[in-house]
Amino acid sequence: MSKWPYNTAAWARLRTAHLSIEPLCRGCEAEGRLGTANTVDHVVPISQGGPAFPGHDGLASYCASCHSAKTARGAEAGAIRSTKPRRGCNPDGTPLDPAHPWHEKSLRAKVHVPSSHLNPQLVSGEE
Ligand SMILES: [Zn+2]
Repeated sequence: MSKWPYNTAAWARLRTAHLSIEPLCRGCEAEGRLGTANTVDHVVPISQGGPAFPGHDGLASYCASCHSAKTARGAEAGAIRSTKPRRGCNPDGTPLDPAHPWHEKSLRAKVHVPSSHLNPQLVSGEE
C-alpha cells in the first residue's frame, strides 16, 4: 500500500515525532476548527524535489479528511483529479461544487416556499 519513504521505520519515527510536536490539523485550524492530526505531509512534495525526511519545519500535520482534500487539490494531483467536483456544503447549506444542481436558479425557485404559505403552527412548533 504505502510506498517509499512512508514504508520505512525512519518515516514512522519522524511521523510520530512530528505529531507530538504538531498534534493539531493545519487544515482544520485554517477553518477555525480543532482537528486531531494523524497524517504528516511534506511541505514540499517529494515529487517536486523536496527531501523525503525533512526537518520538522518541512513537515505539516493534517487530519485524514483535510489531507485527502489537500492531496486531491494540490500539486501532486493530476489534471484529471483536480477537475473532480468538490464535495460538501458551506455552513449555510450551499454546496461547494459550483456545478451542483442546487445552483440552478430554476430548481431553487421550485423548492422555495414563500413564508406566507407556511403553516404557522408547524413553523413555531406551538399547539
Ligand atoms: Zn483537518
